[in-house]
Amino acid sequence: MLVKIVTLFLLGMAALAMIGRLRLPSVRRKSTKVPPPTICGHCGRFLLGQQECPCRKGKG
Ligand SMILES: [Zn+2]
Repeated sequence: MLVKIVTLFLLGMAALAMIGRLRLPSVRRKSTKVPPPTICGHCGRFLLGQQECPCRKGKG
């Protein structure tokens, strides 16, 4: 009888640990999620922090 109770308790603890481990990485992913970079449709450069590509300023 006691062995069954102990095994059930251990299984419950293992399940809680699994849930805790599964939850932590998901929170970390959300915090470190980076928005997709904007790519210029004209020359294909990555626009970091600017909305218009310099290639369109000089050459219309
Ligand atoms: Zn461009």
